[in-house]
Amino acid sequence: MAKHKTPLLDQLESGPWPSFVSDIKQEADARAKNEQGLDYQIPVDCPDDLLGVLEMSYTDGETHWKHGGIVGVFGYGGGVIGRYCDQPQMFPGVAHFHTVRVAQPNGKWYNTELLRNLVKIWDLRGSGLTNMHGATGDIVFLGTTTPQLEEIFWELTHDLEIDLGGSGSNLRTPATCLGMSRCEYACYDSQELCYNLTQEYQDELHRPAFPYKFKFKFDGCPNGCVAAIARSDLSFIGTWKDEIKINQEVVAAYVGGEIAPNAGAHAGRDWGAFDIQKEVVDLCPSKCISYDGKLTIDNKECVRCMHCINTMPRALKIGDERGCSILCGAKAPILDGPQMGSLLVPFIEVNKDDDYQAIKDIVENIWDWWMEEGKNRERIGETMKRLGMAALIDAAGVPVDARQVQEPRHNPYIFWKAEDVEGGWERDINDFRKRHQR
Ligand code: SF4
Repeated sequence: MAKHKTPLLDQLESGPWPSFVSDIKQEADARAKNEQGLDYQIPVDCPDDLLGVLEMSYTDGETHWKHGGIVGVFGYGGGVIGRYCDQPQMFPGVAHFHTVRVAQPNGKWYNTELLRNLVKIWDLRGSGLTNMHGATGDIVFLGTTTPQLEEIFWELTHDLEIDLGGSGSNLRTPATCLGMSRCEYACYDSQELCYNLTQEYQDELHRPAFPYKFKFKFDGCPNGCVAAIARSDLSFIGTWKDEIKINQEVVAAYVGGEIAPNAGAHAGRDWGAFDIQKEVVDLCPSKCISYDGKLTIDNKECVRCMHCINTMPRALKIGDERGCSILCGAKAPILDGPQMGSLLVPFIEVNKDDDYQAIKDIVENIWDWWMEEGKNRERIGETMKRLGMAALIDAAGVPVDARQVQEPRHNPYIFWKAEDVEGGWERDINDFRKRHQR
C-alpha cells in the first residue's frame, strides 16, 4: 500500500502512453513484497518516498531537491550527480538520491546476462529505478546513498568491467550508432573510432578540466541515428566522396511496383502506388536527381542527405570513397538557444592509424583553444559564436574550405584572407565578373 497520496501524479497515468509514475509504483510494490528476499542496502521505501516528494513539488510548484555538495568515487571527478532532498524528515527514503552515470556498451549492444547483472547491482544498492538511456547515452542509475557509491563502482568496474560515464565539465561518455556491426550504410567504423577516442581520453572523461561539458558523437552515415549533428560538441558523421551507385534495373523494379519503397516501412500506405517523381525526385533537397526512364544524379550537387537511398535502398548504394565529416559546436538550448554543428572538416578518411592520429590532433587543438579562450560554463559552440568561426578553424589547424559555413544556407558571407585562397581573391572576383559580364 502506497505511503503517500499522489492525486496529481496519478493523473499522469491516465493517458494511453506508458507512464513513469506507474513504473515507480511498480518498483515500490515490488520492494514492499520483496519476493526475491533481497537485503536492500538503501531504505526499502525509496521509490515510495520519491513519489511523495515529487507530488509535493507539483503541489508547491517548486523542486524539493537541493544542491547538497559534491559526491563521487575515489579518483574520479565525475560520473555521480549528488542529489539531496530538502525534506529528509518527511521523505527519509530519498534523503540522498544520487544519480550514477554508467558508460553504455558501444553502440548499445547488450546481452541479457549484462542487463541482469546491472539490474542485480542496482536492485541491491540503489532504488531499482533506471533510465535506459540518458540524453548523453549513458545508462542512468537513479537514486542511491553516499555509502553505496564505492560499492557500486567496485562491482561495476571489477565484476562487469564497465566504467562510470562523464558528468560535470569534462568529456561526456562518447556515443555511437550501431555502425558497421549492423548497418550497410556505415561509411566508417563508428564503433571503433568511438572506442579508440574513449580509451585515449580517459583522463578528460574522469577528471573535469574543461570550461564546460564536451560531447563526442559518432554517426556512421548521414541518417544520423545518434543525431550527432544536433547533440554533440564534436560530431563525426559518415559520408562518401564519390558517386551514389545506381542499379537501373532495380530502379525500374521500384517504379514498376515489384519492390516496396522505403524497405516496406510504409506497408499500409494510402497515397497510391510508388511515384518516383513525387517521392524521390521532387524531394531531393538539392534538386540534383532526374528520372526519365533512367535515374540520373548530378553527384557534385548532392548533399548526401540519404533520402533517395533510404527510399530505394536496393537500387541505390553509398559511394566507395568513404570517410566522415567533422562538425563542431552543437548544443541544446542552455544559454544562447539550440545550435546545430558547423562543418569543420568536410571529409577525412578513418581507416589507418594515421587517420586516427589526424583526428586526435584536431580534437586536442580545439580543446587547447577552448580551455584558453572559453569562459566558465561556455560550450565550445558558444566560444565559436563569440570569437568567430575563423578563429575556430585557425585553432583546429584544419585547411580553410569553402564548405565551412557557419550557418548553412543562411550565411554565405565568410570572409577569407587573400592568402588562404590559391591565386588570391582578385582572381575569383575577375572570374566572377567575366562569367556574369560585369
Ligand atoms: Fe539528392 Fe539527398 Fe539523394 Fe543526394 S542523397 S541525390 S541530395 S536525395
